[in-house]
Amino acid sequence: MQVLVTGGAGYIGSHIVEVLLDAGYDVIVFDNLSTGHRQAVAPKAMFVHGDLRQIGQVEDLFAAHEFAGIFHFASYILVPESMQKPWMYLRDNVVASANLLEVATRHGVGRFILSSTANLFDDPQRIPISEEEHVIPGSPYGESKAIAERQLLWMERIHGLKYCALRYFNAAGAHPNGHIGEDHPVETHLIPIVLQVALGQRDHITINGTDYDTPDGTCIRDYIHVLDLASAHVGAFESLADGPSRNYNLGTGRGYSVQEVVETARKVTGHAIPVQIGERRAGDLPALVADNTRIKQELGWEPEFAELGAIIETAWKWHQSHPRGFNG
Ligand code: UDP
Repeated sequence: MQVLVTGGAGYIGSHIVEVLLDAGYDVIVFDNLSTGHRQAVAPKAMFVHGDLRQIGQVEDLFAAHEFAGIFHFASYILVPESMQKPWMYLRDNVVASANLLEVATRHGVGRFILSSTANLFDDPQRIPISEEEHVIPGSPYGESKAIAERQLLWMERIHGLKYCALRYFNAAGAHPNGHIGEDHPVETHLIPIVLQVALGQRDHITINGTDYDTPDGTCIRDYIHVLDLASAHVGAFESLADGPSRNYNLGTGRGYSVQEVVETARKVTGHAIPVQIGERRAGDLPALVADNTRIKQELGWEPEFAELGAIIETAWKWHQSHPRGFNG
């Protein structure tokens, strides 16, 4: 069965490509390589260089291949950047998903998996956060994913497209074989930065605020291993063959503070990892933890990497073997 993975050269996409290939799918990756890496794409996948914002390129792709389903990752993904450059998100991300859905439905594609986000929940009334929570995007990035979810709703109603939106909490870790992992042009995420300190590439990590209303004053996040994300994608895709369209909140259900992440990384790496205390980062919520009851019950999904230490170990293996990322 042939499937399309947009953004399959990126961090999460490249891991899903490997899991799909292992599960026996034929995979075509479509990526503009603006932030992804050609080397991250498994050799067994076919690679097509292209940009979803150019509808002609999307039409050419669908004219040349028949897809049983689509996994859509290609988008801009940084909350702080989206606050500075909102139109990258409110225009480019939205146009990309619109072009993809327009052409996909014209070609009768039946199943669609959307990479969505916990940034839909800017004012959660309850932690852990369930699918019942009101969608209040926390940034133009979150808004662009909320719009993509709405686009899907209409494509289901009008064209019968089956979809699943997976709202991730904090994706982390790397493939345990150490050959693919996180490599962003500008690193802003906590775990890679902490490990770059352990490698001696940075002097210290700055903790963004220690005065939050949490046990140790630092922000709490739900870190989920990228392969656990991947298995949820495959499970969600397969469930759409005879099940309804769904949204799932996707995390381990357990939160760790920034301070706990640093301490765990010290244990895993054996390095001191100096810390400085900084100001709060605009837009950060004190705690984001997923209620994953629905996906566990409906798909039988369970995280394999339930402990933060095991997640950081895989990331450490990647950073040690690729200290300069894919191009080093
Ligand atoms: N964080 C931090 N220092 C850093 C990078 C991140 O204290 O150098 C904090 C950040 O403010 C947030 C948490 O770590 O509270 C996770 O941030 P990340 O950017 O990894 O993911 P986000 O939760 O923003 O998606």
